[in-house]
Amino acid sequence: MHHFSYRDGSLFAEDVDLRRIAAEVGTPVYVYSSATIERHYRLFAAAMAGTAEAGKAHVFYAMKANGNLGVLKTLAALGAGADTVSEGEVRKALAAGFPPEKIVFSGVGKSESELRYAVAAGIYQVNVETEGELDLLSKVAASLGRRQEAVFRVNPDIGAGGHAKITTGSSENKFGVSFEEVHRLYARAANLPGVRMMGLALHIGSQIRETEAFEAAYAKMAQLVVALRGEGHRVDRLDLGGGLGIPYDIPADFDHGPGLIEAYAAMVARVTAGLDVELGFEPGRLIVGNAGILMTQVLHLNPRPTKQFAVVDAAMNDLVRPAMYEAYHEIWPVREAAADARRIAYDVVGPICESSDTFTAGRELPELAPGDLIAFMTAGAYGASMSSTYNQRLLVAEVLVKGSEYAVTRPRQSYEELLGSDRSPPWLA
Ligand SMILES: *Cc1c(COP(=O)(O)O)cnc(C)c1O
Repeated sequence: MHHFSYRDGSLFAEDVDLRRIAAEVGTPVYVYSSATIERHYRLFAAAMAGTAEAGKAHVFYAMKANGNLGVLKTLAALGAGADTVSEGEVRKALAAGFPPEKIVFSGVGKSESELRYAVAAGIYQVNVETEGELDLLSKVAASLGRRQEAVFRVNPDIGAGGHAKITTGSSENKFGVSFEEVHRLYARAANLPGVRMMGLALHIGSQIRETEAFEAAYAKMAQLVVALRGEGHRVDRLDLGGGLGIPYDIPADFDHGPGLIEAYAAMVARVTAGLDVELGFEPGRLIVGNAGILMTQVLHLNPRPTKQFAVVDAAMNDLVRPAMYEAYHEIWPVREAAADARRIAYDVVGPICESSDTFTAGRELPELAPGDLIAFMTAGAYGASMSSTYNQRLLVAEVLVKGSEYAVTRPRQSYEELLGSDRSPPWLA
């Protein structure tokens, strides 16, 4: 469930009328609901706490899903940890108030300077994805007089997810070390001065809506934990990654969440029973997905003999999921449509000069007019965080709602900011 609903004919985020946000902040604008974020985090954290011994389940929010400062501070205040994938994310997690001992650093291509920053900051864990990274991490940490706690991200050769572009756990993907190699690497790491291997990690993909693929991968990991211990290695931690999916293609207020979360928690408890490991979880989409919407205004209608285009002021640079993953988003009019309103099939498109700048084709919606506001629902994950300035468009504004209050937690970029970071080459100055 989420906290976007109609009141007196207008769509509200918690107790704030979205028309007020449109008037005061403009469009396009992302609007996030604190109550929804808090609910999903609490629900997930409570379910995962039940999968391990007391104090041995840790939730690291995968901040690449939504790195808005207000969202991060909301989660840090609830006691969440952060899963990061770049130095920028480590820096932002710290700035948002996540303590270093609750920060995990993942990612297939960490550079020397990124590792140095993260080790010096005193983060909890580096998820090592290649042999070269293992050596580099040890060298960097040793030069800082540290021994960094780390785990190997293993590729379980089980991929899953809603789309080929978001599958990460198959051996065809670039992520993690292989099952065969991890034995040798664990043994090698024991002789390296700058690392202390604490266990294993995996992350098989995203937008996974059933537990079978997770279970197959986790069962393989459980066997690997036992095998590595048999070889005399210390395996105290098992980081199970993120990837739990959310419903996009049914009305976004349909309450689906707890069922899947509970089934997942029960499966994790079953597969890891008796292993005596600390469990880590890295949910991203599940926490923030339906806690955000992208509100946009209809600019023009463009009727064609066979189609009706609605051109809106948001574009693929603001929300790339439909163009990149053929993703589906519910579209809700901000002014509630009358039950008997005429419905028309629209292609809802953005202003960018690319045919892929299409949010949906042939979608039946209540009749639209220029100036109308509509909301792309379930846009809180991989929405603003994947936005760009393509076509020299301004980075979109972001708003966080809490009860009857709202705050602009990321103002719309200005043209001065957009153009001001360019530099002329001296020979053309
Ligand atoms: C992206 C990512 C996640 C989060 O994935 P979701 O599908 O948003 O839950 C977790 N762990 C790692 C390593 C990731 O790259």
